[in-house]
Amino acid sequence: MQLFNRVKRLFSLEHHRVSTVSLVLGFALSGALANAASVTGNIFDGSAALAYTRKAVAFGERPSGSEAIGKMRGWILSELKPLGGQLSEDHFTGQTPVGPVTMANIILKFPGTSGKALVVSGHYDTKKIPMVKFSGANDAGSSTGFLIEFARVVSKMKHRDDIYVVFFDGEEAVGNWSDTDSRYGSRHLVEKWSADGTLGRIRALINVDMIGDKDLDIIADANSSQWLNQTMWRVADSLGDGKYFLRRGGGIDDDHKPFADAGVNVLDIIDLDYGPNNSYWHTGQDTMDKLSAHSLQVVGDVVLGMLIDLESQA
Ligand SMILES: [Zn+2]
Repeated sequence: MQLFNRVKRLFSLEHHRVSTVSLVLGFALSGALANAASVTGNIFDGSAALAYTRKAVAFGERPSGSEAIGKMRGWILSELKPLGGQLSEDHFTGQTPVGPVTMANIILKFPGTSGKALVVSGHYDTKKIPMVKFSGANDAGSSTGFLIEFARVVSKMKHRDDIYVVFFDGEEAVGNWSDTDSRYGSRHLVEKWSADGTLGRIRALINVDMIGDKDLDIIADANSSQWLNQTMWRVADSLGDGKYFLRRGGGIDDDHKPFADAGVNVLDIIDLDYGPNNSYWHTGQDTMDKLSAHSLQVVGDVVLGMLIDLESQA
């Protein structure tokens, strides 16, 4: 990623960050990276991610098992189908405190040639909150919109590893968060991928959650692999976005954790400081006006930079 710094200096007059990244990736196309990325169209668009987020929010509250999440799943699939790759629905039943709930992860695989895999994931269900009209713009509209746009970018990217884009269902607890009431989709996929051998091929899983806040501050998650936190910070610093990535934080329980517990290298990219004292989180205040395309752009650039970096070491 030293190339990033050098090229950014060369183009210090460049004011449009999308163009900057395009140029950076263009110059980085040498040696191992030549096989890893193609420049044309290979740029994450934060505005597009925000537009997808808005469409997701328009489905209303969308907790696991609801009619709304079923409709939204149909929409997500319709956005992903034209991208090519191997698209599948991973249906299962979550055993929740209120009984069995039908759920489905959405998995889009772009096959590579190395035998290894990289995974970018997030959740698309929203928490059911009694008496509240919950938009879930940031949680989980932002991860939903992000992943659709990211899948589009990956579909145009040359890569040697298999790249999976995964939309988890059932991240939210039905009652109070516990090991057995939360992260239904990721826990299910760890079992499934453990059984079929996919788990052992994963070089890294990068999970995103609540990444649309206008006031973006991604915490340092202690449950993530330290070398992936370091990679994230190095890429972010190289892009001039280091200020959005705090070097402090605690251990976060999210969809990456079941994979970490199974021995997979993981990173959770999450901003858990949403509004004053996190007061927008899981409340009626989690609405579209709190989000920005710029924040999604920052995270998109960093995750894409990380993928290219990881691919270059394949
Ligand atoms: Zn949540």
